[in-house]
Order: sequence, then structure tokens, then C-alpha cells
Amino acid sequence: MADTSYDFIVVGGGVVGSAIGYGLAKRGARVAVLDEGDTAIRASRVNFGLVWLQSKGDGMPDYGRWTRRSADLWGPFAQELRQTSGVDPEHVQRGGVIFCLGDEEFEQRRTTIMRMHNQVEPWVYETEMIDRRQMQELFPGVRLGKELVGGSFCPHDGVSNPLRLLQSLHAALKRLGADYRPDAPARAARAEGGGFAVDTPVGTLRAGKIVLAAGHGSPALAGALGLDAPVIPERGQLLITERVAPILDVAAGGIRQMSEGGMLIGATFEDTSEYTTRATTANAVELAQRAIRIMPDLARLKMVRTWLGLRVLSPDGFPVYMESDDHPGAYVAFCHSGNTLAAVHAEDLAEAFLAPRLPERLASFHPRRFHAQKAA
Ligand SMILES: Cc1cc2nc3c(=O)[nH]c(=O)nc-3n(C[C@H](O)[C@H](O)[C@H](O)COP(=O)(O)OP(=O)(O)OC[C@H]3O[C@@H](n4cnc5c(N)ncnc54)[C@H](O)[C@@H]3O)c2cc1C
Repeated sequence: MADTSYDFIVVGGGVVGSAIGYGLAKRGARVAVLDEGDTAIRASRVNFGLVWLQSKGDGMPDYGRWTRRSADLWGPFAQELRQTSGVDPEHVQRGGVIFCLGDEEFEQRRTTIMRMHNQVEPWVYETEMIDRRQMQELFPGVRLGKELVGGSFCPHDGVSNPLRLLQSLHAALKRLGADYRPDAPARAARAEGGGFAVDTPVGTLRAGKIVLAAGHGSPALAGALGLDAPVIPERGQLLITERVAPILDVAAGGIRQMSEGGMLIGATFEDTSEYTTRATTANAVELAQRAIRIMPDLARLKMVRTWLGLRVLSPDGFPVYMESDDHPGAYVAFCHSGNTLAAVHAEDLAEAFLAPRLPERLASFHPRRFHAQKAA
């Protein structure tokens, strides 16, 4: 009979659960990561791959600091993952840009950047506005569209390959002796005998602590553990072109070149209440048209595929980390930018879950902020 006794059960094997599970396992915890099969809604497999600081934390300075910490940790994290798993998550940190078409977009972006700088210490973002000439210097050999007036540049931004990251985390979990169980979706979870029990189709698993990191699957399990998981879906569609020779060195919101050569273009931001991932032609056209206005020569490339996923959002778009008051040792973790935050999740968040109680420095991320907003 399989060993069903763990220090931690992590429910959810997307980029959030896997990074947390990896961080716990490398610190010596006995970990099971439970996941669903291929029919599940899995946001981590629909990902632009940015490791992105410059747009994070407008209205929550702690989120800006947390993201900067992750951006700084990503280099050593990627190296360690490559060594442990044998799979390279392809992290590159050469800075990143947001393109602005026309003066209005440029002014809006400048206002946002200034507002964000005013909310935190100057070292957090170090983002600056750059003009068209400076943008051209970042993308030599690329013909920029005539409407492109410039944009913002952050030296701490970068990219990884999100599918390689997932593969690498899953392989590393295995190498560290953790159980990654894609055959074991959690049907129910409860506090039991001083620990936690999780019912799955392959039996009941038990652990001293439990982390819900199941994205859109967390709300169904949270209540029984005294946790709050106000997850909201948002549709995001991407498209990819045929492969071409390397030309885009710097990461950019909206257009990036994958290591294999394809140009990844995206993403849409669409409110929805439906849990469907049907991509639309209208979205693909809209994405392609904007990309061509930025880089007209993209019009010569064939689109190979378009697909859509559901972002895992909280009501204010910032991460949620919480420990249950009713059942200490039960945690919930969700966020939109799991690729960006993978490094800090594997380090600081894993450490926080190993502590006797969730440290006070994570208090800003508690979902009580949504109730306070309602009451105000
Ligand atoms: C279009 C798009 C672009 C994005 N681009 C970026 C980007 O550039 N940079 C970035 O940092 N992030 C990006 N993201 C976000 C990132 O991909 C992740 O979506 C996000 O961080 C959430 O990850 P997750 O692991 O919480 O969720 P998921 O990937 O959804 O993982 C949750 C997992 O839990 C499993 N599960 C659910 N219920 C159960 C259950 N009961 N038992 C067991 N398992 C269960 C699911 O099967 C799934 O595998 C993007 C997302 C989208 C949609």
C-alpha cells in the first residue's frame, strides 16, 4: 500500500502549487502535490511567460516589493531547477518594455509609472519611459510601426518558458522524493486528528499541513478548511506565429519571441463568468492587428495556433495568501502571475508555510482586505 502520510499535501499542480511544493520538498518536507488530468482548466499552461515587475503592485506596494524579490531570486532559482531537474526553464533577464502607440497611450503609461514609483522605495521598480529612438536601440533590425512613440522600460523584467518551467518543477519534485499525483484530484479536504485528510479517487491521503493552490478548483475546497478563496476567472487569449530567426532580444508585453523562434502575441483581458476556454477569431484578429501596428513585418508571418485560458484573479488582482484561523496549518495561495512569482513562492512562501504560523509580513495578502473594502 502507498505511503499516505506527508508533512504537506499541496492541492494543485499548476505553477503555483508546484513551486510551493518544490520549495517545501527541497527544505526536507515530505510532500504530495495533487493534480487533475488533461481535461482540467489549467491556467499555467496558457501563459505568456513573462517574469514581470513593471506592472505589478499599483495600489499594493507590498506586491511590488514581493515581485521585485521574485525577479531577483529568479536567476539562482532557474539555475538550481536546471541542476535538480535536468530541464532548463529558459530564464532570461534583459529587461522588458511596454509599447505605446500614440501620445495618449504614452501619457497614460507615464502617469501609471509615476504613480507606482510614488508608492514605494525608488529601488523597487526603476522603470523609466523611453522614446521611439531608445526603443529602436533595444530592437535593432526591427522595423517599428510609425504610430509607436516609445514606451516604458524596466531593467528587472525578463521571461521564462512557462511549459519548461512546469516540466522542470514536476521533474524536480520527483527527484526530491515528493509525490506529484496527476491521478489524484482532491474531492474533499477536512481537518482530522490534528492534521488534514484529503479524499481522492485513489484513496484518502493525510498530512500535517495542507496548501490549497488549485486555482479555479480552490473555492470548492476552501470553506471546509476555514479558508477564503475568492477566485475570479478572466479570459486571456494568445496566438503564435511560425518560427523565424532570432530577432527580439528584449522581453515585451504583447509580443515576444520564444526560444524556438515563434512570435507569441497576446493577450486579451476579457471579463467572464463562464468556465470555458473557447478561443475566438475576433480576438485573434484584434491581437494580430495591434502587433502589426507595433512591428509591421509581423504581417508576413503565418499564424500557427491560437488558444485561450482563464486567469486566476482575486477581486483586486493581487495575490492571496492565508492561513486558516479555525484550522491552523491549512493555507490557501493564489495569484495571477504564478510564473513571475514562482521563485519567491519556492523560497519565501515555502519558508512561511513551514513556520509555526504564517508570518505577519504576509498580512497585506490576506483576503480580509476584500471584506474591509465592502464594509467601507
Ligand atoms: C493568457 C494568460 C497569460 C499569462 N501570462 C503570464 C505571464 O506572462 N507571467 C506570469 O507570471 N503569469 C502569467 N499567467 C498566469 C499563470 O499562467 C498562472 O495562470 C497563474 O499564476 C495561476 O496558476 P495556478 O497554478 O494557480 O493555476 P492553474 O494553472 O490553473 O493550476 C491549478 C491546478 O490545480 C488543479 N486542480 C484544480 N482543482 C483541483 C482539485 N480539486 N484537486 C487537485 N487538483 C486540482 C488544476 O487541474 C490545475 O492543474 C498568464 C495566464 C493566462 C491565462
